[in-house]
Amino acid sequence: MKTKNLVVLGSTGTIGINTLKIVRQYPQQFRVVGLTACNNFKLLEKQIREFKPQYVAIGKQGFDYLRRRFDRASVKILDVDKESGFIVSLKSVDIVVIGMRGGAALAPFLEAVRHGKTVAPANKEALVMAGPLLMRLARKHNAKIIPVDSEQSAIFQCLEGHRREDLKRVILTASGGALRKVPLTRFDRLSVNEILRHPRWKMGEKITVDSATLMNKGFEVIEAMRLFDLTVDQVQVVIHPEAIIHSMVEFKDGSIIAQMGITDMRLPIQYALTYPHRLGTGLASTDFYHLKQLTFGKPDFKRFPSLALALRVAREGGTFPSVLNAADEVAVDAFLNQKINFTGIYRIVERTVRRHRIVRDPDLKQILEADIWARAQATRLIEE
Ligand code: MG
Repeated sequence: MKTKNLVVLGSTGTIGINTLKIVRQYPQQFRVVGLTACNNFKLLEKQIREFKPQYVAIGKQGFDYLRRRFDRASVKILDVDKESGFIVSLKSVDIVVIGMRGGAALAPFLEAVRHGKTVAPANKEALVMAGPLLMRLARKHNAKIIPVDSEQSAIFQCLEGHRREDLKRVILTASGGALRKVPLTRFDRLSVNEILRHPRWKMGEKITVDSATLMNKGFEVIEAMRLFDLTVDQVQVVIHPEAIIHSMVEFKDGSIIAQMGITDMRLPIQYALTYPHRLGTGLASTDFYHLKQLTFGKPDFKRFPSLALALRVAREGGTFPSVLNAADEVAVDAFLNQKINFTGIYRIVERTVRRHRIVRDPDLKQILEADIWARAQATRLIEE
């Protein structure tokens, strides 16, 4: 495998930290060209010293701090909001890992595909907002998208070596979230701390809340539709609490292929980085003697109305997914800041979606307008 040059967007978050662990383990295989972060300039400083990127981008708070500590000949310090797109488009870059959260990932994602880079998105917001546009551009510019989200990585891996036209549907597994066994009557009193104790994956706060409401699974349905060119009816959500099967594909003859493994984000990240090769991870093997059984069930839409809402939005398409994503970002933020209770998240998002007037086949401008409209709308509903 020839050395690959990486840019890691969101290098101080969970995905970024895990990506750099892989680089640390395989220094011959990967070279870090660029790192970006929003706020955590102290950790970014350590990462600069260890991985020696040529370019980094940081938010306003960290800008002067980093500029004082590094001379311009060793590393260029740039503005994360304005210049992430420039970093991903550098000629030397092979792979762009998108670990940052939220809709802010859309602009650098677009830049990366326009420059024909291999993009490894863990971020699903960009694909939810502007999936058709991103996929169209990726085809046009020959950019490869190798998803890092574990379910999408599973589907991608299951499809390898098979003909796309033989695919019948995908079965998207969900661990069921932290609230699978919590009585529904308690939902409106659930605290931020209770929600953030997620049983299966270690993730950022926003996605942990989205996993509890199953909105995350709804986003993943939309993400799968975009990545693999599927209709909403070709994506079935199945609750699978053990989270050993990361998703499955069914071919037209009824044969099903599943991708399994322990729940560690390093697996799908590393696969995206080393594709089409594989390298050891040092992680434990799945122990089937210990596991004994895998179980499956149907999602309960009464407990998780956000998933039902996301499926409706997925069917509608157009600017609706962008509105769903923006409203959810605002509502989850309000919950984390204790402005609304847990069940308020769904109420705010649902009311925002209900008020939206769809634009079909939106261009980038219309997608961003819908995003801004939804943020303002959701913010107003929270303040009421
Ligand atoms: Mg996932």
